[in-house]
Amino acid sequence: MPELPEVETVKETLKQKLVGKKITDVQVLYPSIVASPTILEFQKRMIGQTIRDMKRRGKWLIFILDEDALISHLRMEGKYFFRTKEDVITKHEHVIFTLDHNVELRYQDTRKFGRMYLVKKEDLDTTKPLIDLGLEPWDHALTVSYLKTCYQKKSLPIKSVLLDQSIITGIGNIYADEILYLCKLNPMKKAKDLTEHDLKQIIHYTKEVLELAIKAGGTTIRSYTSSEGVTGRFQHELYVHGKVGEMCKCCHTTILKTKVGGRGTYYCPTCQK
Ligand SMILES: [Zn+2]
Repeated sequence: MPELPEVETVKETLKQKLVGKKITDVQVLYPSIVASPTILEFQKRMIGQTIRDMKRRGKWLIFILDEDALISHLRMEGKYFFRTKEDVITKHEHVIFTLDHNVELRYQDTRKFGRMYLVKKEDLDTTKPLIDLGLEPWDHALTVSYLKTCYQKKSLPIKSVLLDQSIITGIGNIYADEILYLCKLNPMKKAKDLTEHDLKQIIHYTKEVLELAIKAGGTTIRSYTSSEGVTGRFQHELYVHGKVGEMCKCCHTTILKTKVGGRGTYYCPTCQK
């Protein structure tokens, strides 16, 4: 599943190619991808609008149009490709946006889990799906006292709470492990038992880990000729996630794998007591 850094990378790539382009046609070949409004309204409203900007909230991509905003979640396998009208439509291409100059932006999704919403631009933050999202990692409102309030009644392990998108949005399974490793926090520790120092560390390393991954995405992307295949996971940057049996870079203890809240979780038993 693409995480925040990958979505940020996709957003930047699409932004370079899409801003200023007018949508001249919309085809929906697999209706379930469009969660709201109806397919007919989705098509009718978008045709004729120009893409003015690209944004990201959590793991959602947002196409800012003249009047509306198209909100798109890639879920497991969603990808955007650029094609021309002459290119054959493959069976995994479900939504096709024709842009001026014969170019098509095609949404491809082998698993069909991705979802799109079209909302009025001014309602972006106050309607589904974005209304339920918590703070972005770089939001100034993300403070120790904010986390303290959110965590005070949470008896769940901190690993699970970091994945709760209604508190901080954009931390997925891979980066949650990395953040906890750098904070030297055991993933099973109850969120409500964390100290102010722990919370400070979480805020610091959440930003640092995601910023590094975004930078890595920025370098990875240059090796692609288009936005195709922008799903790299930057595994080479990781300390613990997926490293079971390898040595901790800090203390040389063997990295362990366990399950927390049903999610595969990697940690160093010595550094993260
Ligand atoms: Zn260690």
